[in-house]
Amino acid sequence: MRNCSICNHEAVYRRPYSGESLCRPCFTKSIEKRARHTISRFKMFRPDDHIALALSGGKDSVSLLQVLSTIEEDFPQSTLSAILIDEGIEGYRGEAIAIAKENCERLNVPLHVYSFKTIYGRSLDEIAEASKDKGSLSICSYCGVLRRKAMNVAAKAVKASKLVLAHNLDDEVQSIVLSLLRGDLAGLTGIKPVLEKVEGFVQRVKPFCEILEREIAFYAYVKVVRFQRIPCPYLESSMRSDVRRFVNVLEGKHAGITYGLSRSLKKIQGSLKGVDARGDLRQCQTCGEPSSGKVCRACQTLEELGVH
Ligand code: SF4
Ligand SMILES: [Zn+2]
Ligand SMILES: [Zn+2]
Repeated sequence: MRNCSICNHEAVYRRPYSGESLCRPCFTKSIEKRARHTISRFKMFRPDDHIALALSGGKDSVSLLQVLSTIEEDFPQSTLSAILIDEGIEGYRGEAIAIAKENCERLNVPLHVYSFKTIYGRSLDEIAEASKDKGSLSICSYCGVLRRKAMNVAAKAVKASKLVLAHNLDDEVQSIVLSLLRGDLAGLTGIKPVLEKVEGFVQRVKPFCEILEREIAFYAYVKVVRFQRIPCPYLESSMRSDVRRFVNVLEGKHAGITYGLSRSLKKIQGSLKGVDARGDLRQCQTCGEPSSGKVCRACQTLEELGVH
């Protein structure tokens, strides 16, 4: 490993796509600087925002908690809290909650835990069991729909003005490939650093959306942040998992393709003006949450699986 391209001390990380080598302090500073840059470039926050971070206990959200707690110190009128959705996944979510609590206590950030069991009356494990006979989709597809609604319900309950997601650049690129594979152009228009303000939804923002997953993992490692290392037991069933492997193999052979795909999306989105990701919204007849149909997707999913 060469010396740091910035300060000439011993480097610990090399960026193959830029040729930069960085020492520990320069590397962590570069990640924090990039997140701050994304936040200001896309005007993600107002000085008096109540920011609710969707915390899972994984490396991305725990690292973002670390970065946001530093930024928050510069904005005394803002409030930072964390929300965690407990889907009810035996042998997995318990550890994540313990890790999330530990990090929130260390950084003095209040943590609010909401569960599928309280919101939907069923845990994800119970929903997975019910889907064995009836469901045609992967568990992650059901979980994704239910988590999205649960997150919005929780963010509204804590009176947040912004809901922060720890999606990294790899997550965003995987979403692009998934939308393309599914022919879902409307979905493609919804992959953005700041989602549009829509009545009934707490506005979502993604400060890590320009940072590679492996760099966030290294940031968490260098900062000695404790995060959950075991993956969700349902992860392998998802199409996203296959796409992730595919993009990673390409990135390993041709450094920079993840950034390339992200740049392509911006160009494609420019020609997709008028394609609406959500359509007209109304209130779900069953739960009252915003919905593009009479009944929202979360309620539809539970209905189809007979667990409503
Ligand atoms: S991996 Fe799938 S099932 Fe597990 S928490 Fe994520 S979306 Fe839910
Ligand atoms: Zn350095
Ligand atoms: Zn509903």
